[in-house]
Amino acid sequence: MKTYPVYLKGEPIITETTLPVTNPATGEVFARMCTVDRAAIARAIQDAHAAFAQWRQLPGKGRGELLHSIANELHRRREEVARLITLENGKPLTQSQGEVAMSVDHLRWFAEEARRAYGRIIPCQVEEKRHLVIKTPIGVVAAISPWNFPLVLAVRKVAPALAAGCPVILKPASHTPLCTAVFADCVDTVRLPKGVFQLVAGSAAEIGKEFLENPLCRKITFTGSTEVGKKLIEGAAKNVKPLSLELGGHAPVLIFEDADLNAAVDATVMAKFRNSGQSCIAANRIYVQRSIYEPFLKAFVEKVRYLKVGDGLDPQVQIGALIDEDALAKAAEHVEDAVRGGARLLCGGNRLERAGCFFEPTVLADVPKGALCMHEETFAPVAPVSAFDTEAEAIERANSSSFGLSAYAFTHDLGRMFRLAESVEAGMLGINDGVPTTSQAPFGGVKQSGWGRELGVEGLDAFLETKHISIGI
Ligand code: NAP
Repeated sequence: MKTYPVYLKGEPIITETTLPVTNPATGEVFARMCTVDRAAIARAIQDAHAAFAQWRQLPGKGRGELLHSIANELHRRREEVARLITLENGKPLTQSQGEVAMSVDHLRWFAEEARRAYGRIIPCQVEEKRHLVIKTPIGVVAAISPWNFPLVLAVRKVAPALAAGCPVILKPASHTPLCTAVFADCVDTVRLPKGVFQLVAGSAAEIGKEFLENPLCRKITFTGSTEVGKKLIEGAAKNVKPLSLELGGHAPVLIFEDADLNAAVDATVMAKFRNSGQSCIAANRIYVQRSIYEPFLKAFVEKVRYLKVGDGLDPQVQIGALIDEDALAKAAEHVEDAVRGGARLLCGGNRLERAGCFFEPTVLADVPKGALCMHEETFAPVAPVSAFDTEAEAIERANSSSFGLSAYAFTHDLGRMFRLAESVEAGMLGINDGVPTTSQAPFGGVKQSGWGRELGVEGLDAFLETKHISIGI
């Protein structure tokens, strides 16, 4: 069984301690990942800090060229990495391939943005002064990433931090560290100054504590649950440590009677069932205008019923395994709770009776407002649908959540598009679009979905400080 190394101070290191990595489609442990203790994290932060001066001095163009070389290497190894993502996460291989392609695109976007950390010159109020604003890299960055998009969400942090001139220490999720180990291997081929990029794994609580308490670590960028995000906010308060937080979501989908019904069905299937529903921007609550409610349900169930479930390595499979038994239990609990509350189960609803963590693609209709799945992330292939009458009611129901990451709407009324754009409480709104994420546009949430933005020009800015220089002349 292969053991994957951590990367410390520019070297792959095989440590004495490891954690098992399980294939959720079979339940088998198929590899091990090396782990480190808190003392090693303290050394990694020290080494990153030591590398900072050299790294920030390199012009953005030079850092960008190195990022392009990392992108080239990741692209060259794309099939190996995609297969590994499917093995450790369970998602269908085509989706893993898409994840690697998007990671390459993120690297290229930030390779180009590295040249564009613009400051500005501000007209001054008196003749004998000049005011400048410059951007400087924030310093050592700790990046903590989740298991659901194990490569792309790590790259979304590492690429802009490196582009900005910051050294980075990446801690991937314990379920899915292997693709980041291969990514670290790709980074290794370009021979960055030692300590500029490091990969660690191990106890999340211990690693998190060192990131929070070590004064040389200047920023934590985190993607994961709102629960852990709140713990980081508490820990960060002590030293006023800057945080970027990409947390949970509970995306509403609003389907209006003037929408192209077939297109809305296809896009909703994509927004709900991609990655087996384990996406922070997954459609969680589907609201359909009453006049098209039954036709929508009929067409939607026809599509969902035939989604093929199984091992993600099978090229026909569209719904892979869920990450673990807890995820299966949560899906079952949400379905039972909705049905108890009066929802109609139109298809699915059960785990598959076979090895691995498989849940049937499920559609629930007439789901009551108070059902668990209308408030908590289900993170499974379970689609709750409910009817609305007016645009005002649709907006009110869309906003009736403590989360505000992504939202979707289907309509061809231009005025309504603008009204929704301005009133739906979400960081991202896909209008007639079930897949809004792209390298060049900001990604992030409002309310309890987090702080800050990744990607776009905002993605680089998250790792830059803004400094005012006032010069007397
Ligand atoms: P999670 O349990 O919060 O874990 C995320 C990461 O945080 C993992 O690397 C985990 O390490 C680490 N972690 C756990 N406890 C920690 C602590 N006390 N201190 C520091 N780090 C800690 O979330 P998840 O289950 O992996 O991911 C699913 C959640 O992420 C969902 O809520 C989803 O909506 C959200 N998400 C948000 C976005 C977004 O962009 N807004 C994107 C994707 C996912 P271990 O794995 O070692 O425990």
